[in-house]
Amino acid sequence: MRAMQLRAAKEPLRLVELPVPTPAKGQVLIRVSVCAVCRTDLHIVGGELSEPKLPLVIGHMIVGHVEATSNSAHRFSPGQRIGVPWLGYVDETCRFCRRGLENLCVNARFTGYHIDGGYAEYCVADERFCFPLPESYDDVHAAPLLCAGLIGYRALRLAGDAQRVGLYGFGDSAHIIAQVARYQGRRVFAFTSPGDTKKQAFARSLGAEWAGDSLTPPPEPLDAALIFAPVGALVPAALRVLDPGGVVVCAGIHMSDIPSFPYDLLWMERQIRSVANLTRQDGEELLQIAPKVPVRTEVKTYPLAEANAALDDLAHGRFVGAAVLTVAS
Ligand SMILES: [Zn+2]
Ligand SMILES: [Zn+2]
Repeated sequence: MRAMQLRAAKEPLRLVELPVPTPAKGQVLIRVSVCAVCRTDLHIVGGELSEPKLPLVIGHMIVGHVEATSNSAHRFSPGQRIGVPWLGYVDETCRFCRRGLENLCVNARFTGYHIDGGYAEYCVADERFCFPLPESYDDVHAAPLLCAGLIGYRALRLAGDAQRVGLYGFGDSAHIIAQVARYQGRRVFAFTSPGDTKKQAFARSLGAEWAGDSLTPPPEPLDAALIFAPVGALVPAALRVLDPGGVVVCAGIHMSDIPSFPYDLLWMERQIRSVANLTRQDGEELLQIAPKVPVRTEVKTYPLAEANAALDDLAHGRFVGAAVLTVAS
């Protein structure tokens, strides 16, 4: 099979021929149709996430069809369309799993990081962590829901009952979660890099009532700020526009250092927290809500062999919405 392989951090992915993997106990073999590109992929290739299996096939927003199952996997039938997310394995027994926090599992393994992922024609996945996908989405438009959507949804959930929600970094996650937030009756304020009027217009088209530069104060204070851009300086910037009791939720897996800031910005029960990974429940909930909204995903497609170009375009903000690799020809 063809795959885009990472041999070492900071090197481009290379197109290689690999044997089709064999599903182990509890796994299904999936013929990959498409795989969306995540900012986390950039952090793996760039070496900011420092413990990948190597060599590695990255990619964790996989849509494909079940090609075969191991003897012990019974959840899906051959031919069925399923999605594979970032969470690839948990032990179900550690102190976090027992409290319903499987996203923090001490033995968690992640797709496209510890386990070969979807930048390839085939992959294997533990059936317990795969999702059936809503039929109203074609493969290309379903793929971004699987991480951009899921992590965004978890971030929004951790914002509690916040009414006025700021989204910092209007990329793949924010464009999905803006629509969910509006559906839930919340008000959305979108923040982009200075001067990115194209993304600001995109945000307004998806229901943001205000869109502007990340350093420009919004017209009124916010109850929550969800930060999707990997920029630590946005944390004090977001605190500055939060109402008392508000929360800053950092949704990325990597962020540059957060500059120091006066305690006044945190005072009055403001909070800062991060979002790590996802639980299966987050996935099930988002995939139920998405078709009801209905969430429309904006995608730019690239052939599998052009994965490096897709990553480069993501790093430089050259498209709106999400990049998706089309794998099946
Ligand atoms: Zn991701
Ligand atoms: Zn666990």
